[in-house]
Amino acid sequence: MSKLPNCPMCNSEYAYEDRGLLICPECAHEWVAGEEQKVEEGVVVLDRNGARLADGDNVIVIKDLKVKGASGSIKQGTKVKSIRLVEGDHQIDCKVDGFGAMKLKAEFVKKADA
Ligand SMILES: [Zn+2]
Repeated sequence: MSKLPNCPMCNSEYAYEDRGLLICPECAHEWVAGEEQKVEEGVVVLDRNGARLADGDNVIVIKDLKVKGASGSIKQGTKVKSIRLVEGDHQIDCKVDGFGAMKLKAEFVKKADA
């Protein structure tokens, strides 16, 4: 068997193959062999737990976030739907109920299950 590629997310050498998918035991990233390049070209944004976020994901805010120009703050536990990933310091472009369009830092959210 040829050597499997390193994980495109964390560069781990311990990726293994399972039913056509390559799986990294260290960061739980899954990908299709041969698509590593594509993965690397995209914006890679990890949430608080190291899970990779994608456009359209739902996330949960894990701490109260002050909002410039708003009277309140985004409360911990707020669910944010259909995020869009962008490059830069604040990697998540989204709309927060009651606040409107804004950008959040990935380190202050975790991926929601649904
Ligand atoms: Zn990995």
